[in-house]
Amino acid sequence: MALIVQKYGGTSVGDLNRIRNVARRVVKTCQEGNEVVVVVSAIAGETDRLIQLATQVSDNPDLREYDALISTGEQVSGALLAITLHAMGYPARSFLGPQVRIVTDNTFSKARIQKVEIKRLQKELKAGRIPIVAGFQGVDKDGNITTLGRGGSDTTGVALAAALSADVCEIYTDVEGVYTTDPNICPDARKLARITYDEMLELASLGAKVLQIRSVEFAKKYNVPIHVRSSFSEKRGTLVTKEDEKMEKVLVSGVTYNKNEARITVVRVPDKPGTASRVFTPISDANIIVDMIIQNSSAEGYTDLTFTVPKADFKKALKLVKKTAEEIKAQEVLADENIAKVSIVGAGMVSHAGVASKMFTALAKENINILMISTSEIKISCVVEAKYGELAARVLHQTFGLDKGELRKEP
Ligand code: ASP
Ligand code: MG
Repeated sequence: MALIVQKYGGTSVGDLNRIRNVARRVVKTCQEGNEVVVVVSAIAGETDRLIQLATQVSDNPDLREYDALISTGEQVSGALLAITLHAMGYPARSFLGPQVRIVTDNTFSKARIQKVEIKRLQKELKAGRIPIVAGFQGVDKDGNITTLGRGGSDTTGVALAAALSADVCEIYTDVEGVYTTDPNICPDARKLARITYDEMLELASLGAKVLQIRSVEFAKKYNVPIHVRSSFSEKRGTLVTKEDEKMEKVLVSGVTYNKNEARITVVRVPDKPGTASRVFTPISDANIIVDMIIQNSSAEGYTDLTFTVPKADFKKALKLVKKTAEEIKAQEVLADENIAKVSIVGAGMVSHAGVASKMFTALAKENINILMISTSEIKISCVVEAKYGELAARVLHQTFGLDKGELRKEP
């Protein structure tokens, strides 16, 4: 007998028929002899609708009330699922985050989980009832309702799985798993049977939207296996897990592409202590996340500083940088919104030479100019002109053999 946490996303509980489908899956898992704790998201679109309501009455809603409002979607889907299970003859009970006691800090709208109490859930399981927990919400130490940031039900699922020492946290969504690249830009994209936590973290921060990043961090910390799969299919999905030697054999497991960043270059910055800090402090104070940063080695006491920021923050960042550039007597500030970032991710890169040169050669063959490069242990990213982004992703997908041959198999 296994203890399984099943988290169902917004599309999986998208309407009453789909909720019935979820109920059947839950029942089946129980009938197979497992204990199940269910976590639900709000019905697809509901959280967006609630957020819109808040912004219609105020540009700057009080965040305590904002969380009280946007957490309600999960109460509806959880209770509906419990009622559906009752109608099918199965005992179930829905619970809100504060009832379970999922304790968080008080950073409304993006609270962090501090403690998960499991007594109530264990009592339900023991009594033979199926506990259904509203995802995305918790309670701070003063009893205020909090929410965990968009997509936060994933984190509820993994946190419960960790606290209950569950065998696996199944995350049900509308895609069949994690793919080697976005199937919309590359028809040859394939589902990965397995992926490491670190690879998943890179993919998620590069824009793959299957899992909330924080849920993967949580899973890694507590070593909770996550099985990402579709609620509309019986097929196995992708297992996110800690790495083993076999996984390291695969050089590259995914290619990502995104157009959500813009590039800013400060030209001829006087090369002396404190300039980088002068440039980046106002940007970070404005809560703008800088991604890639490149500083040239200096010539005659001057250097160029290039970096990328999210397009949504581009205008604000540019204004701040122009002001600083004047103060530090840089020559000028250049900006470019027409860029795309393509990245390759793979746990095997740590122990293999030549991955970067293979990537650069493949891009060169297509005459694609590389504007910026950045690397981590298991990732290489290149910024290219926006119009070449999709082509670059397809070329790299093929170059690293992701379109055919053996992908990671089940252990
Ligand atoms: N309903 C919340 C959202 O849409 C949480 C979740 O679905 O994970 O962000
Ligand atoms: Mg989600």
